Amino acid sequence: MIKKVKGYTKNGKVADYIPALSKADPNDVGIAIFDGNKTCFSEGEHHKLFTLQSISKVLTLALALMDHGEDVVFSKVGMEPTGDPFNSIAKLESHIPSKPLNPMINAGALAVSSLIKGSSNEEKLERLIQFVRELSGNSLITYNQEVAKSEFETADLNRSLSYFMKQHGVISGDIDVLLDFYTKQCAIEVNCEDLAKIGYSLAQQGEHPQKSYSIIPFEIARLVKTFMVTCGMYNASGEFAIRVGIPAKSGVSGGIVGAVPGGIGIGIYGPALDEKGNSIAGMKLLELLSAKHHLSIF
Ligand code: GLU
Repeated sequence: MIKKVKGYTKNGKVADYIPALSKADPNDVGIAIFDGNKTCFSEGEHHKLFTLQSISKVLTLALALMDHGEDVVFSKVGMEPTGDPFNSIAKLESHIPSKPLNPMINAGALAVSSLIKGSSNEEKLERLIQFVRELSGNSLITYNQEVAKSEFETADLNRSLSYFMKQHGVISGDIDVLLDFYTKQCAIEVNCEDLAKIGYSLAQQGEHPQKSYSIIPFEIARLVKTFMVTCGMYNASGEFAIRVGIPAKSGVSGGIVGAVPGGIGIGIYGPALDEKGNSIAGMKLLELLSAKHHLSIF
């Protein structure tokens, strides 16, 4: 399957606005699929580590909802998709009150990250990483310090969004402390198999991939997957719903997590991105996979 999409990588571009991400090999494409059995089906560069970037937004949303419940979380962030790029500031100003439109764009994710419980950033990060370890069944997962530092040093746009929201009472506290947590959350490192298992946990309504207890309450897993459908693929989410129809979330590192409700989890890596920030080969791969195995939920 990888062979069929490899050629698309040359039409894409590796993200470089976070300098450390520009080191990725644009030719890489990997996929893993997890169906709950002990081993994953995998192909291509499925063993390579990459950072979650925006995929982490799905996980912080689940954790914040578990920490506080819907009323608190949705008093800070909305539920509506946006046609704007993920890092846009435009709607914050035009929508009064200045609540970000949804938790999958940067402004919304920053507001959600500010809600994660913990007495220090270390404690919050430890809780989040532990959560990712549980969902993936991989106790070795940690974050990439070089990528986190590289983003922290260049995150002026995210700082602007945060200061804007602070001024309007959406978030409070020290913005650099929030950015320190957010950039580390985005730098959590996985491979395709970890991601496929995370996708599987979401697909199975929060059930642990190998054990029989739930890590995410059913209702929160449902809610998170709905955001993945409406806002998971940036401002290409509408077209993705039509062409692929799988709840999914992508990140600028080239990762995509897919969760077929009640079915498989999918982890993809392909750092060459299209103009909207989605893995160009990864999108094609999902389109082929969905068509071949009738995976669309619609
Ligand atoms: N850390 C990235 C940022 O805030 C995440 C963006 C993304 O993957 O969409 O710019």
